[in-house]
Amino acid sequence: MFELKDFCAARSLDQADELLHRDKKNVILGGLLWMRMGTRQYNTGIDLAGLGLDRITDTGDHIEIGAMTCLRQVETSALLEDNFGPVLRDSVSHIVGVQFRNMATVGGSVFSRFSFSDVVTALMVLDTRVHLHRGGIIPLSDFMATSPGRDILVKLAIPKHKVDTAYMSHRKSATDFPVLAAALSRSGNTWKIALGARPSRAKLAPEAAALLPATPGPAQIDTTCTTLIRELGFGSNQRGSKAYREHLAKVLVKRGIQAICR
Ligand SMILES: Cc1cc2nc3c(=O)[nH]c(=O)nc-3n(C[C@H](O)[C@H](O)[C@H](O)COP(=O)(O)OP(=O)(O)OC[C@H]3O[C@@H](n4cnc5c(N)ncnc54)[C@H](O)[C@@H]3O)c2cc1C
Repeated sequence: MFELKDFCAARSLDQADELLHRDKKNVILGGLLWMRMGTRQYNTGIDLAGLGLDRITDTGDHIEIGAMTCLRQVETSALLEDNFGPVLRDSVSHIVGVQFRNMATVGGSVFSRFSFSDVVTALMVLDTRVHLHRGGIIPLSDFMATSPGRDILVKLAIPKHKVDTAYMSHRKSATDFPVLAAALSRSGNTWKIALGARPSRAKLAPEAAALLPATPGPAQIDTTCTTLIRELGFGSNQRGSKAYREHLAKVLVKRGIQAICR
């Protein structure tokens, strides 16, 4: 278990930012599910719970998800499902259990840039922007290419657009980390495909996605699947080999396309 010498319930983002940069051993606290697995010693833990960041909000042209929104809110949000279909719900519904998802936060999930992340894989196909207190607003795909630094993730913003979506993952057993995760979206004639847990970080496959017409036939789906294997690159770890992941990628992406075209 990690240790804190002190705790501060931040009264504003500026106060949280000032504390974070005052001492390298101060830390932002999310839902603490990941942090509690570690043994690090920190000075002050900075809690964002009182800053109203635990909400999913419709701003008119975007849906915003505050950093302290828990994964269970994402799973059960009618606003997210009405606007973006099942992709976000299905990306979180296999993560451990309901009590866990009631505590794990969107901010902790995205800021940590986990390579196995279901949440990030799904957010990638929705043109998500990350709002950072110091770093400004950047596309999630750019954010994922950076290393965790010292900033505060304030919220995510997803532009409202007509979109069909699907999410597929393969796990060796229920509630385990995914061996591979696939998210797909179709907006008009434009497809987006993201694969996570390759086992490296989630990435979009624009070249493969561009080969798909709005309603692809079997030969076009096969060509897309072959292209994305080359475009993204896969690897091996304790959960699966490169060859197994390449096979799974074809299966999951084909199923995702079929689910959207059904
Ligand atoms: C046993 C276990 C199994 C899991 N399985 C899966 C899985 O199958 N799929 C999946 O996608 N995820 C999985 N996860 C990850 C989980 O869903 C969360 O992403 C993870 O727990 C981090 O969220 P948290 O709220 O607990 O963050 P915390 O543990 O509180 O924080 C994690 C890190 O993020 C930083 N941080 C938190 N919030 C912010 C913020 N707003 N701004 C800046 N930095 C911040 C913290 O300082 C810390 O460094 C698993 C985690 C655990 C512990």
